[in-house]
Amino acid sequence: MPLYEYQCAACDHRFEVLQRLGEGGDGLACPECGQPRPERKLSTFAASGASSSSSASAGAGACCRGPGFT
Ligand SMILES: [Zn+2]
Repeated sequence: MPLYEYQCAACDHRFEVLQRLGEGGDGLACPECGQPRPERKLSTFAASGASSSSSASAGAGACCRGPGFT
């Protein structure tokens, strides 16, 4: 889920909002002053804890298939 950064036009307060793709900021409001529809600054993907953890191969079962198996 992408993380969007918004900045309030009234008080310049910046805050980040997790939104779905394509979702606008119409329903948002500044948490500081309550100004609706803050300006979207940039969009970054949430990189919190996003590390490569997909190489977990469970190689526990040592098989007995080999040469000399008669
Ligand atoms: Zn504000």
